[in-house]
Amino acid sequence: MLVLSTIDILLLATGALLLVGCAAAGIVSKLEKEQTALRRFLAAAFSVPVPFVLTGLLAFPGKGILGWILFGSFWGIVVLLILPIRFTLPPPDGVPTARIDERDTIFSRASLETGTARFDEYYRRHPENLEADNRFREQPGLLSSRSREADRFAFAAVEAGFMAEEHLRFITDGPVSEEPVPVDPEQITAYLRNLARYLGAHSAGFSFLREVHLYTVGGRREWYGNPVKNTHTYAIALSVEMDFQMTRQGPKPGTVMETARQYLRAAEIAVQLADFIRRLGYSARAHISSHYEVICPLVARDAGLGEIGRMGLLMTPRIGPRVRLAAVSTDLPLVVDTRSFDSTMIEFCEICRKCAAVCPSGSIPRGARSEDNGALRWRINAESCYTYWCTVGTDCGRCMAVCPYSHPDNLMHNTVRFLIKHSELFRRLAPLLDDLLYGGTPKPLKPAAWQRVPAKQSKD
Ligand code: SF4
Ligand code: SF4
Repeated sequence: MLVLSTIDILLLATGALLLVGCAAAGIVSKLEKEQTALRRFLAAAFSVPVPFVLTGLLAFPGKGILGWILFGSFWGIVVLLILPIRFTLPPPDGVPTARIDERDTIFSRASLETGTARFDEYYRRHPENLEADNRFREQPGLLSSRSREADRFAFAAVEAGFMAEEHLRFITDGPVSEEPVPVDPEQITAYLRNLARYLGAHSAGFSFLREVHLYTVGGRREWYGNPVKNTHTYAIALSVEMDFQMTRQGPKPGTVMETARQYLRAAEIAVQLADFIRRLGYSARAHISSHYEVICPLVARDAGLGEIGRMGLLMTPRIGPRVRLAAVSTDLPLVVDTRSFDSTMIEFCEICRKCAAVCPSGSIPRGARSEDNGALRWRINAESCYTYWCTVGTDCGRCMAVCPYSHPDNLMHNTVRFLIKHSELFRRLAPLLDDLLYGGTPKPLKPAAWQRVPAKQSKD
């Protein structure tokens, strides 16, 4: 009869725990359509528990010592990875000092048409941008039927989303009810946060509207060249979640379909919030795609929604950069969220660099943050990134798709994000684990069956 000692039982229990843990992670990966992770978790389920089970079951000389060493080392490493130890503390990013002219942003420059007075005027002021900008003009273009990833159905769906959003641009502002309803700032802030979530926002935060949040001059459509004169006191930032499966298809068209869908959703929520506030008798203006007066990532950061990471996007604590943003500025008295700088996210970006490694245009810096406009940040090469978009016809999104912070908002990934936040040792190990399980350069996910269009219909 098999007689089990204390160490045998502990080893078998550890082996069983590892087996169940790896198998459960495999099932989650299967549901997330992460084939590489599924294979690797299953391989781990059948291999990692083996030394524990064999040592627990077999009888051989020195088994007791070996068993305790195995058990002690394993749980010692686990405890070390969980302990809230920290060795380094990156300096805060600081606040930009000067406001930005929206006409200098890549989207504004991309809207300039050769031979127009606006084009000539811009490059007279900024001849240094002409060569780089002409490079993206030589490519087929975003949503072009001649682009590498051209897909008629997908691109038409994207245009349809942008068309719907176009209409919202004209209702970002409007008349304010004459009789202001008296409000308790705390109560109305809580109401607005919940209303934003009820309308579909993933998160909402509140900040004072600072000068540096505002562009100096508009750079899009009919607002091109108009000075920005927003005098509101507060800003509400909101994020909406990008679907994980669609995002993971980048640079295939699924990613740009999702971008259009979420910009529209963010815009719908923002215009409703602004209108709601105006109905209470306070001035409010929604800031939505192509019609911003504010720099949304900066507002969102100051409203406590996240930090700006290596790829230059807002990184939220629960779904990383897999969000789109909108904002509302207002005079409604609100209670602002106190931003507490999350240095662990910046530190993780310093170690990780996965987005920089996969970026097909090499637009994401691999080094440390540098000072830019008075603040420490990573500055991506917007020109080479946009040139790549104009080559493939989509907004690429490879960086967002592979970011270890982008994994779905569920128990497994939230546990990993919790450990990344609380343990420096785990922070250092996590990028290696992510590469090991999901691949250092994960392949784009295949489009779902409904998205696949016969080749002869997908291009001109
Ligand atoms: S991929 Fe890594 S380095 Fe890039 S933004 Fe995400 S966490 Fe930061
Ligand atoms: S969107 Fe694509 S090209 Fe642009 S920075 Fe991200 S990975 Fe690079």
